Amino acid sequence: MSFASQNFSPEIVRALTECGYEKLTPIQAQAIPHARRGSDILANAQTGTGKTAAFSLPIIQQILEKPKSRGRFNVRALILAPTRELAAQIAQNIAEYTKYTDLKTAAIYGGTKMSSQERTLEKGVDILVATPGRLIEHVDLKNVSLANIEFLVFDEADRMLDMGFITDMRKVMGEVNTNPQIMMFSATSSKQMNALASDILRKPKRIMVDRENTTADTVSHVVYPVDQERKRELLSELIGKKNWKQVLVFVNYKETANELVKELKKDGIKAVLCHGDKAQSARRRALDEFKEGKARVMVATEVAARGLDIQALPHVVNFDMPFLAEDYVHRIGRTGRAGLKGHAISFVSKEEELTLVQVEQLIGQRIHRVQLLGYEPANRDAFVQKMNTKAAFKDRKGRTNNPTEQQSSSERRVRLRQAIKGKAKITTLKK
Ligand code: AMP
Repeated sequence: MSFASQNFSPEIVRALTECGYEKLTPIQAQAIPHARRGSDILANAQTGTGKTAAFSLPIIQQILEKPKSRGRFNVRALILAPTRELAAQIAQNIAEYTKYTDLKTAAIYGGTKMSSQERTLEKGVDILVATPGRLIEHVDLKNVSLANIEFLVFDEADRMLDMGFITDMRKVMGEVNTNPQIMMFSATSSKQMNALASDILRKPKRIMVDRENTTADTVSHVVYPVDQERKRELLSELIGKKNWKQVLVFVNYKETANELVKELKKDGIKAVLCHGDKAQSARRRALDEFKEGKARVMVATEVAARGLDIQALPHVVNFDMPFLAEDYVHRIGRTGRAGLKGHAISFVSKEEELTLVQVEQLIGQRIHRVQLLGYEPANRDAFVQKMNTKAAFKDRKGRTNNPTEQQSSSERRVRLRQAIKGKAKITTLKK
């Protein structure tokens, strides 16, 4: 289905053509017709599926169809996102989609000065993208009014709940005097999510899409068993030997990230950092350098990298396995987008074998192990044997991202498994 056949304004079609969008992605094909009719939407979709355009294009079109002069402190559409990076990225996408219109888009999030945001808000904006905490600060200071909002989007709503933003989300709802069209997007579902959705959405159209439809068979997965203390050397060696040009590396701790960047630099590999302790401007700069190919490696922690969109990213490395198997799915979602080939590489120490088992259970496949000569982990076989027999390990297998959703975890696992099926080109090995 082409964008030209969707009756979007010529300004939008022209911008989308310049973005290189020809056909609608599955989520866009499902969501756009309902959203344009003004229906509330509850969608299960992950980053990388084209969800930003799915919710923002109908909003842009509807605003263009009902032009209004911009009131001071006023906002017509509000999009809430859990992290600064995601908010900045959504605003950037919308700015591209609206470049041939006179709509005004702004992004407000923590880590940047309140005063410049205040001035922007005072003049009024058509589409505001915000993180909940910073938005509430501005609301409390009366820098912005949410009273007349016509469109409201909760993007990555599951992550917002995980991050404890529920009070802020409800507070936002309390500020609204109108009956806005509300769209809620999330990668996973849970009891808490469903409760919130049934509270605030009116007869929502439910939409579910698998990532497989947009990125089927484009990611290959591989595991390198290795001792924790040898991981750094292994990374440098693989980058050099295999001549990897652009690598996003996930670690679990900021300290690991700092250390790793230093060490990579010593090996002559230009690397940048993206973690929560870095100022917003520094994170932005790092991302730009990485995107432009000035830095070969970006080392990131989970939260900082949430929602990052890097076009045609070829390699994602799990330097540390994520604490939760579901985060593996989120992390590898950074690669293999839009039909391009991607590689997900995981370094797995003995202690992380259990997470690997959980990841394999979640995605329903066994991942190919590659043992690099000189990096064989010590005593791995004995450890794996113990792991398969000890009750303590088995107990930990029921972990989920969100403690309130124990009962729905199996349903969620099925959904995540569906989401990754097809996308993952996984070599199956016999034990
Ligand atoms: P998102 O899931 O919104 O983060 O989008 C993932 C990536 O897909 C972004 O780089 C978008 O610019 C891109 N994208 C979104 N819609 C389309 C489309 N219809 N055709 C091609 N690329 C798209």
